[in-house]
Amino acid sequence: MSSAPVIASIGLGANLGDAQTTVQRAIVALGSFPHTTVVAQSSLFRSAPIDAVGDDFVNAVAQLHTTLSAQQLLAELLQLEQVFGRERSHRNAPRTLDLDLLLFGQQEIDTATLTVPHPRLTQRAFTLIPLLQIDPLIVIPGRGAAHAFVPDVAGQSIQKII
Ligand code: ADP
Ligand code: MG
Repeated sequence: MSSAPVIASIGLGANLGDAQTTVQRAIVALGSFPHTTVVAQSSLFRSAPIDAVGDDFVNAVAQLHTTLSAQQLLAELLQLEQVFGRERSHRNAPRTLDLDLLLFGQQEIDTATLTVPHPRLTQRAFTLIPLLQIDPLIVIPGRGAAHAFVPDVAGQSIQKII
């Protein structure tokens, strides 16, 4: 079953192994989800871990055009994390690949397994800055213009890689 098409924004992060290659390959893999195409991708960024341990993260944001439902898209994202070998040993453990559903069109969703917009989207430079790079005027449902949150993350370390 497919739903009305939406633009969904996905946050990617990796800090184990060849994190840059992992993120690049994962963006390509997003385009192989059913009824889904990748319509935009940010640069790759390097960020220091927040609430996590280990090496710096490589982060990016991709935008998808999809007719999957939000729950179907989340299931695909969690499955792709497994394909890239994520081990859930403990919360905030170093991870091969983390995929977060940041935005799903203008929808607001709050269930036991899915909260959209992602609750920490506007508090983390590694999601906010790549999102703004590809969509500078994007509006976050319930919160307003994303760019208004830049001062809140100005103290966090993030650098563009490529
Ligand atoms: P985080 O990405 O916040 O550091 P995890 O990736 O370990 O934490 O959390 C994964 C779980 O969070 C998933 O099993 C999923 O059910 C839940 N979740 C709730 N909202 C979202 C969302 N918007 N994107 C991704 N996972 C979400
Ligand atoms: Mg996650």
